[in-house]
Amino acid sequence: MWQAEVRVDLDAIRDNVSRLRAGTTAELMAVVKGDGYGHGMLPAARAALDAGADWLGVCTLDEALTLRRAGVTAPVLAWLLAPGLPLHDGVTAGVDLAAASLGQLAELTAAAERSGRPARTHLKIDTGLSRGGATLDDWPELLEAAAKAQADGMVEVVGVWSHLVYADAPGHATIDWQLAAFHEGLALAERAGLRPRYRHLANSAATLTRPDTHFDLVRPGIALYGLSPVQGEQFGLRPAMTARARVTLTKRVPAGTGVSYGHTYHTERETTLAVVPLGYADGVPRHASNVGPVQLAGRTRTVAGRVCMDQIVLDCGDDPVAPGDVATLFGSGADGEPTADDWAEAVGTINYEIVTRFGGVRVPRVYD
Ligand code: PLP
Repeated sequence: MWQAEVRVDLDAIRDNVSRLRAGTTAELMAVVKGDGYGHGMLPAARAALDAGADWLGVCTLDEALTLRRAGVTAPVLAWLLAPGLPLHDGVTAGVDLAAASLGQLAELTAAAERSGRPARTHLKIDTGLSRGGATLDDWPELLEAAAKAQADGMVEVVGVWSHLVYADAPGHATIDWQLAAFHEGLALAERAGLRPRYRHLANSAATLTRPDTHFDLVRPGIALYGLSPVQGEQFGLRPAMTARARVTLTKRVPAGTGVSYGHTYHTERETTLAVVPLGYADGVPRHASNVGPVQLAGRTRTVAGRVCMDQIVLDCGDDPVAPGDVATLFGSGADGEPTADDWAEAVGTINYEIVTRFGGVRVPRVYD
């Protein structure tokens, strides 16, 4: 018997990958960083590869090495690397590593020397996000150094890539100017003698709405998990995660009863309270106090009072609720339950954050 669980429907992930695959002729990199956006990196990666993903995308070297240690042989790109990491482990494991500066390129060269094989790299250009990536000003110098390192057998420039600012607003002007900057960066790469096999730019939103950003490889993340990157459009994606728990206790209380820490909620009349064993230690945002939607006994209710570390309370009126009944915080919405989008809206965040938070360690993840 379970108390609380996060269920992950791997068929939904497979369906979503097929859906994305059908919309592009580019190869597909399934982005499984952040523990697969809370769905479990390895199961998500395997489901995505089963359904035809060609690549896996992660943030850290550790994530990439975890995939390799688990026997995943598909191409993997890791893109956020602080100085001094054991990059040679990545090179030896056949992990592609991003570089955006002369310093990062030098680290790759050192890693290649140590592992006795060229470091496969994807050079990142900053086309406007002002996050990772070399600025257009620094780009020619990076290209020149990369071309030399490639000629010396130290690196293999496998890709040139960038990331979009506003892909979730498909007509946004930044997409056009980022595309223009990307084309300029590619032309400069060509002039430096670099013709990488993979040019890539598109996240989920661009994969779904902007074929002109697909190039050779698309990098969807959130859409794999069935959540839409564009508000108000579902694109036929199936949400994969359900978060639910069994009521531990019910009790009748009189009108005017203060509920949970700080008594920020008072019952309006005599009512039944139900205690649900999921709290902020499990991923429930504390901002969901008095606003988070939960389905219980066929009805969607709002969290009564503050979210605690381990539990929330629901005000169920005269509905027949009992210990053991299942309270669903969010799911696919197919049975009328709230969705991760509903939670995101209620607490003022994005669906990405809701599902990623629920990938914590205490609540068991169960795979369908
Ligand atoms: N590419 C990069 C570099 C990212 O950092 C991310 C995630 O933030 C993605 C692709 C996938 O983005 P999304 O989940 O919006 O598809």
